[in-house]
Amino acid sequence: MLATIGLEVHVQLQTHSKIFSGAATAYGAEPNAQACAVDLGMPGTLPVMNAEAVRLAIRLGLALGSTIAPRSVFARKNYFYPDLPKGYQISQFEAPILIGGGVDIRVGDTEKRIALTRAHLEEDAGKSVHDAFHRDSGIDLNRAGTPLLEIVSEPVIESATEAVAYLKALHTLVRWLGVSDGNMQEGSFRCDANVSVRRPGESLGTRAEIKNVNSFRFVEKAIDYEIERQIRLIESGGKVVQETRLYDAQRDETRSMRGKESAHDYRYFPDPDLPPLVLDAALIAAERDALPELPDARRQRYQSALGLTAYDATQLTQDRALSEAFEAVIAASGAPAKLCANWVLSEWQGALNAANLSIEQSPLSAARLGGLVARVHDGSLSSKMAKQAFEAMFAGTESADDVIARLGLKQVSDSGALGAHVDAVISEHPAQVAQFRAGNEKLLAFFVGQIMKRTQGQANPAQVTVLLRERLQ
Ligand code: ADP
Ligand code: MG
Repeated sequence: MLATIGLEVHVQLQTHSKIFSGAATAYGAEPNAQACAVDLGMPGTLPVMNAEAVRLAIRLGLALGSTIAPRSVFARKNYFYPDLPKGYQISQFEAPILIGGGVDIRVGDTEKRIALTRAHLEEDAGKSVHDAFHRDSGIDLNRAGTPLLEIVSEPVIESATEAVAYLKALHTLVRWLGVSDGNMQEGSFRCDANVSVRRPGESLGTRAEIKNVNSFRFVEKAIDYEIERQIRLIESGGKVVQETRLYDAQRDETRSMRGKESAHDYRYFPDPDLPPLVLDAALIAAERDALPELPDARRQRYQSALGLTAYDATQLTQDRALSEAFEAVIAASGAPAKLCANWVLSEWQGALNAANLSIEQSPLSAARLGGLVARVHDGSLSSKMAKQAFEAMFAGTESADDVIARLGLKQVSDSGALGAHVDAVISEHPAQVAQFRAGNEKLLAFFVGQIMKRTQGQANPAQVTVLLRERLQ
């Protein structure tokens, strides 16, 4: 059987104030400290469109290759829920701001473009807060009116792996463009997954919608579980019913939440309080001109112009700050891109992960790291010494050269100084010398090791090898 998935992603737009009011959007405030009369749905208040939310939607639309609708319309989506004071959510229905476009994904060696249906602007609802015993509930309206862009894909995703690749690419893009902080724990990037299965040759099956999954790992598990469940159901003679399901991460299963019978009739109609959103061509042009190099283009450039592997190029372009730091390391070190990529991806990222810091929070700057990579590139430091220097530099403020001087890290490449050690090792090990001369090449590593020991690791191993060969042959 074949699986089909369509995703609806809610991206929280990174604005200071709400989509239709001046209240702050910052996360983590005291309940209801950031809900003004508009967010509370007080009679007599009127929504005012936040221009920044519009600009962010346009920016993302341009990057996704969507058509930016010159005129879109806000609509009221009516339903009753305690966290929705007005009794309706302001959204876009028949005329959304973005139409079409797509997201390029890669799974293994296969590339595919996931087509988008649309993306529309809307406001978020508040949330119900329950005490630990579910005896007491309260409503927190801080989130009410937070600007969202809901991005709807066509039903063209064929596996949980593709779904995750799509979500990760979209997540990278919204963060890259500064459209959203993408913080999944805080709910800034959430996804509903629509899943159906069918036999080859048949048209699309009945779908179930899994609500609000907020981690890549859970999306993958929830979709895989749901595909399996539907296949088992159909193969045992049953029928999938259209319904909304919830993913329970603890039990790794999806459960029915509400069926089609209880599906809402939202009675959409254009919001009379908001005029149609008419976009000025100049506004769109300004956003287009300000678009940065996009992650896909940058990844390809890293491969073609810098000669990086697909793996390194992909890693480095998952995050704009990381990729910018990588370019700053190249600029500061003058070293080859591959060497810089290694230092950024293994040492630096490793240390950041261990300290649970983002690249923006790094105590080590790209310029200081560049200073260290320069010393590796010019042969002053062995890779072992460089790692030692890196550790000393990471949490501190010293430059590479200061750390190298303080720790007395200096690779000895001078053939005069090394020659004495080479001679000494040769005369101390006559048996090994004889074996080497008789053809036991492996002993070269033994001699190098002896010299490293005598020099406390400061000898340049490449230079030592040259000298050894000269004298042993
Ligand atoms: P609704 O607004 O009721 O959720 P839509 O028709 O807008 O419904 O579709 C929502 C999402 O469901 C879209 O991402 C779409 O691609 C996906 N979808 C629609 N039909 C199917 C199907 N048969 N199987 C899987 N996904 C589907
Ligand atoms: Mg839906």
